[in-house]
Amino acid sequence: MKFVDEYRDKEGAERYAAALAKITTRPWTIMEVCGGQTHAIVKFGIDELLPPLVTLVHGPGCPVCVTPLELIDKAIQIAMRPGVIFCSFGDMLRVPGSAYDLLSVKAGGGDVRIVYSPLDAVKIARENPGREVVFFAVGFETTAPANAMAVFQAEREGLRNFSMLVSHVLVPPAMEAILSSPRNRVQGFLAAGHVCTVMGYTEYFPIAAKYRVPIVVTGFEPLDILQGVYLTVKQLEEGRAEVENQYTRVVRKEGNEPAMHIVREVFRIIPRKWRGVGEIPQSGFGLAEKYAGFDAEQRFGVAEYTAEESSECISGLILQGEKKPNECPAFGTRCTPEHPLGATMVSNEGACAAYYRYRRNP
Ligand code: SF4
Repeated sequence: MKFVDEYRDKEGAERYAAALAKITTRPWTIMEVCGGQTHAIVKFGIDELLPPLVTLVHGPGCPVCVTPLELIDKAIQIAMRPGVIFCSFGDMLRVPGSAYDLLSVKAGGGDVRIVYSPLDAVKIARENPGREVVFFAVGFETTAPANAMAVFQAEREGLRNFSMLVSHVLVPPAMEAILSSPRNRVQGFLAAGHVCTVMGYTEYFPIAAKYRVPIVVTGFEPLDILQGVYLTVKQLEEGRAEVENQYTRVVRKEGNEPAMHIVREVFRIIPRKWRGVGEIPQSGFGLAEKYAGFDAEQRFGVAEYTAEESSECISGLILQGEKKPNECPAFGTRCTPEHPLGATMVSNEGACAAYYRYRRNP
């Protein structure tokens, strides 16, 4: 298959690994920011191909994993209301809240529906004028344009029974939070290619310069990731800290301007809580004032609700590159995909789920 097979070529991977071993003289720790990259790394054993001096740690790039507990609880509270149709992507249904998950609400008779696009939720609102329809908008910059388009469309049609529970987070402020931590050990980043497809990569220039870290925009196939690691290590070995684009077949420096335009129209930048990490300033999207009437938190009176996260789950440390999933005492024993304690064990992009699925070595 074009653009897949040639990026999974075994001999190409071995050549990259050999080239990397040749240029590596010191220990380096590199973080991949995206959960899709984490899964590819673990699935294809890319980390095991690297020289022992190069360590990959897994970043906060799984949107389901970083959605704070209180937002899951808010979703559950809204979904339990009579008359509500609660729409979500399927991967949010099994994320544990404080007491239940959305799947239990559905099993208990709540009208929780899996949709494949936020515009499906708009359609449901159009077809059910007597019901309140809520869409759970979770994600990074990647999904923001489609979610913004759904609100824009609902406003244009005057759909007053549609609202959105927004949990959008942004990658660059999270990278800065990691780099600012006194416990930080990350020396270079593989930036997520799909995020940069939307936003471009100019936002990374000041971060690379301020913290003296190479940032390489990287794709998702094994050879993409190996090349991204190679370019990062090469910069580190040469004492450079620049932004480079490995994923040139998709990403342009300026990103996708029409997509960013609709995002700027509908959303504004606000502080956001990240599950296991805490609040990061200016790290997410909320609805702009003009679209505040579509805010489900306000409409259902749950904006002030807060929740305490379990102390047993160390996903916050994993998402900041401080621990690996198999260092969690609950991994594979008290916490499994069937009985998850944290979101990183549920999500298709979660690091704990990747370790469990491909290695099973508690
Ligand atoms: S293994 Fe389970 S409890 Fe441990 S960090 Fe991962 S999700 Fe949390």
